[in-house]
This record gives sequence, C-alpha cells and structure tokens, in this order.
Amino acid sequence: MKQVVVTIDGPAGAGKSSVAKNLARRLGYRLLDTGAIYRAVALVAKRAGTPWTDGAACARIARELDISYDFVGDKNHVFVAGEDVSVAIRTPEVSQGASQVSAHAEVRAALLELQRRLGAGGGVVVEGRDTGTVVFPSAEAKFFLTANDEERARRRVAELAASGNQVDFELTLREIRERDERDSTRDVAPMVPAADAVIVDSSTQTLDQVTESLAALVEERSQAR
Ligand code: C5P
Repeated sequence: MKQVVVTIDGPAGAGKSSVAKNLARRLGYRLLDTGAIYRAVALVAKRAGTPWTDGAACARIARELDISYDFVGDKNHVFVAGEDVSVAIRTPEVSQGASQVSAHAEVRAALLELQRRLGAGGGVVVEGRDTGTVVFPSAEAKFFLTANDEERARRRVAELAASGNQVDFELTLREIRERDERDSTRDVAPMVPAADAVIVDSSTQTLDQVTESLAALVEERSQAR
C-alpha cells in the first residue's frame, strides 16, 4: 500500500488532535500537528516580549523556530529548542496568541516550507486549518472535521481539566467562537474545507467511529494509487 498524505482540517475542539493521533497510530503513520507550530511561535513571542500583532517580528521567530515532536503512547510531545513545551502551548492565552500570529501572511509563509519538510515523503497525518488547501494541496486523503460549537467547547473544557486547567464553559465557548471567526475570515489561508475534502461531523460520533471511517477511506485511497 502506498504511504499517502492525510490532512485533517477543521475548527477548534472538533476532535482533530484525538482523531489524528488515533488514525496515525492505526495506520502506522507519522503525526504532524501544525497548530502546535503556530502555538510555539506565539509562546516564543510572548516570552520574548514580542507583541502578537507584530507580523515582521513574529515571522522572524517563525523562521528561526527549532521545533520537534515525540509521539509516544497517546502523547504528542512538542519541543522548542529542546524544551518540552507541550503544556505551555495549550493554555487559553497561547491559543488566542496562535490565532493572532497565524493571521500574518509573513508568518504563514515562513512556516509553509517547514510544514512541507516535516510532512515530506508521505505516510503522515497532518492536522490544522489549511493543510488540505494550502500546505498539501495534492494530499491523497483530505478531511474537514467539524462539530457544533457547544460540543466543541465542552470537549475543550474537559481536555483542559484533564491537564489540570479549570476553565469556565461560557468563556471557552466565547473564545472558540472568536477564534473560529478570526481563523475563517482572515485574508491568508482562511479555514475552509478543500474542494475535495470529505466533511465529517463528529458531534454525535465516538472517537473510534470517526477514526474507523477515516481509516477506511485512507486505505481505499492508498490502494487506488
Ligand atoms: O489546532 P490548534 O488549536 O492547535 O491551532 C491553534 C491556532 O493555530 C488556530 O486557532 C489557528 O489560528 C492556527 N492554525 C492555523 N493553521 C493551521 C493550524 C493552526 O492558522 N494549519
């Protein structure tokens, strides 16, 4: 079977990370979490005192970003310059920062080659917002994963609670809507499904059900080519 590129795009809290991890493990593929890259840029900027609104300075950080991953068990550890930042990049503050830095064209341009390099050779599940439209437009299997916004907020609250962060549901819902609005209306690479993406609504499906239906399509595409 051919090792293909699988892209999973969609809004915050749709279950992309969990599905991408499960699918990668199920297929024996690598995992590329592109959101973590934008989060890492936001975190490095925050620590350096660089405002997220400063596109040129954030792009410099993006160009110099030394990011690596270690996917073990069900944890995808993210390292920046050797430091494990997996928890630090997941705070609500850094989520908003990632969304802000990702709206700058020069930041996206700086990260494009990095993402293509990390996904080169196929046999990879890539998750993000524009991975099927911009980063890997010729990916063999593209998905756009979505869920209604209350469900997405509920999942985000549970996910943060599991990592020891208590957050308010209404506030999380507001932040998710704000981030979706910014991500889908920005000028560069807005979050939209690729024309050839399969749209999957995960609101009423379990993680295993979603993973299985995606895996079936990926296997079909890997044989067809
Ligand atoms: O997926 P995650 O919530 O980690 O992404 C954080 C932010 O990074 C998103 O809100 C979005 O603004 C940005 N992002 C992006 N393009 C991607 C992945 C993430 O703009 N491919």
